[in-house]
Amino acid sequence: MIYFNNPPFVGNELEYVRQAIDNQKICGDGPFTKKCSQWIESKTGTSKALLTTSCTHATEMAALLLDIKPGDEVIMPSYTFVSTADAFVLRGAKAVFVDIRPDTMNIDENLIENAITEHTKAIVPVHYAGVSCEMDKITELALKYNLKIVEDAAQGLLSTYKGKMLGTIGDFGCYSFHETKNYSMGEGGALLIRDPNYIEKAEIIREKGTNRSKFFRGQIDKYTWVDAGSSYLPSDLNAAYLWAQLEQADKIFDNRMKTWNLYYELLTDLQKQGVISLPVVPENCAHNAHMFYIKAKDLDERTHLIDFLKEQGILAVFHYIPLHTAPAGKKFGVFCGEDRYTTKESERLVRLPMYYGLEEEKVVYIANKIKDFYCR
Ligand SMILES: *Cc1c(COP(=O)(O)O)cnc(C)c1O
Repeated sequence: MIYFNNPPFVGNELEYVRQAIDNQKICGDGPFTKKCSQWIESKTGTSKALLTTSCTHATEMAALLLDIKPGDEVIMPSYTFVSTADAFVLRGAKAVFVDIRPDTMNIDENLIENAITEHTKAIVPVHYAGVSCEMDKITELALKYNLKIVEDAAQGLLSTYKGKMLGTIGDFGCYSFHETKNYSMGEGGALLIRDPNYIEKAEIIREKGTNRSKFFRGQIDKYTWVDAGSSYLPSDLNAAYLWAQLEQADKIFDNRMKTWNLYYELLTDLQKQGVISLPVVPENCAHNAHMFYIKAKDLDERTHLIDFLKEQGILAVFHYIPLHTAPAGKKFGVFCGEDRYTTKESERLVRLPMYYGLEEEKVVYIANKIKDFYCR
């Protein structure tokens, strides 16, 4: 059986977890957390990276920092993971869904302006498959209407838009280190903060509303409860696991890219024959090989393709059911404008097995089976 995902494991994870235990520091903000956040800061150039318990939590922190309240509106695509919306509706905001572009499956930047009202507080672009949204246009709108940008860059670590790292372009950027992402700690994430003025408040929210981070840096001699907060810091055990992967980030990146490029090469003929569509990466964007998907003709053909591949021992999967069609999406959100592509394109999409260490022979086998399906 070829699984859709295998959580990454590069080799030093167990050794570093053991070191964390030896350090007698398995709570949050230990040495491995420090290494990971410093790595993210130097790689991306962000002002501050805070390791969190998930990308969902990083996004929740962004919503808290922006003081999102009942009655506020937040613009996002409907074709995304629930967390994108959860973080804001948990604060009482309304999710305003905008249609996607059929080429990248990202929010259509040209439809955002129409969704802006006097209640709009933020735009949340989701960089699907690690391919960037059209950030210049989105930034222009945010400046024009005085809105904040929270990038859902859960899939976007080490991808770029016009040379800028995803997650560093908006006011806040949110990464995920869930086991299905390129670099993992089981469950985990990071919040990137562009404006240094938000850093102190973010540290307080993350540490149960206390100024403990300042205390640990020796800037104050005892810490206290200063604001409302929660607990968003991961154990150093998880950070130790992540550090083993960040240390080998290039190796993971290159390996995934090799797989992605091989899929693309092997399936190009089918695209030329017009039977499937392959992912589109716009000229300004460099992606991180997070995902390889193809698009079938329609829902019916996709269902047959997934079943066929399963019979051949290949686990290929579909992806998001548009949020506006889900019970909670109807309750907490509204689709603005016409659903021209969100439903239609999401029904065509199939994700192929993609993980660190996926063998070349398997990629060839999968591509051949897809060709068999279309040549039957
Ligand atoms: C994975 C993912 C998330 C959630 O990440 P967690 O770390 O599991 O909270 C959010 N948004 C998108 C687009 C994702 O792919």
